[in-house]
Amino acid sequence: MTTKLIKVKAKEIFTKTKLSGCDWVINQYVGCQHSCLYCYAKFISRWRPGNYGKWGSWVEAKMNAPELVKGRYVDGFVYMSSIADPYQPIEKKLKLSREILENLNKKTKLAIQTKSDLVLRDKDLFKKFKNIEVGLTINSFKGKTKEIFEPFSPSNKRRIKALKTLKKNKIKTFTFVSPIIPEIIDLKKIIKETKKLTDSYWFEFINIRGAGKEFLDVLKRKYPKSYDVLRDKKKFQEFIKESKKIISSENIRIRDIVIH
Ligand code: SF4
Repeated sequence: MTTKLIKVKAKEIFTKTKLSGCDWVINQYVGCQHSCLYCYAKFISRWRPGNYGKWGSWVEAKMNAPELVKGRYVDGFVYMSSIADPYQPIEKKLKLSREILENLNKKTKLAIQTKSDLVLRDKDLFKKFKNIEVGLTINSFKGKTKEIFEPFSPSNKRRIKALKTLKKNKIKTFTFVSPIIPEIIDLKKIIKETKKLTDSYWFEFINIRGAGKEFLDVLKRKYPKSYDVLRDKKKFQEFIKESKKIISSENIRIRDIVIH
């Protein structure tokens, strides 16, 4: 898919957030080439002037973001990023995430989350921070399911390999297991494959409202069993209960289990 790149200048780059465990977010990109079908950040399109096009086909890049972090220190946890992947393909060329890391006060308490192994490019910079953790989103989507839900992000295999490399480099890691969808996600397998590579876990059950109508329509057509569980309150609660049982039976550090 070709990407429409919109270069902009921002006034501020640290935004206050109520996201679990964080105080600030840095969003140097708005819009994400990974184009996940369930992406909760899609809502942002409505607030963009004109019609940029389908989610995933455009990226707004705050070109002065690296300048905006220079000489600043914000107290509390900073999360990169909440409405786009900081290591989506355009980052290879624009290097905004890298330059932000270069300029950011190294005492900043920072958490970075991505679906891409491009993150490994910046491990030299991660090592300069006193309080940093780098996380990979892992789910068990593969084959056709991966193509449908996450068409343009690197495979889970590559993400797990990235976790391994980060760990080898003594960088604190976390695994964000998301989105948890009944009948599709294999929690046991994910934990087994990441347990030795990650310091802690976040779990997140699919946010049906955030994922939107398009996601639900596809789910109904292609994964009727999942749809059935998600649309039936009782069945979904039962699924959550069973999943929590699996999660808590493992000897892992759980930061949060997000249920929308
Ligand atoms: S990687 Fe994250 S921000 Fe990007 S499209 Fe997927 S869910 Fe949305």
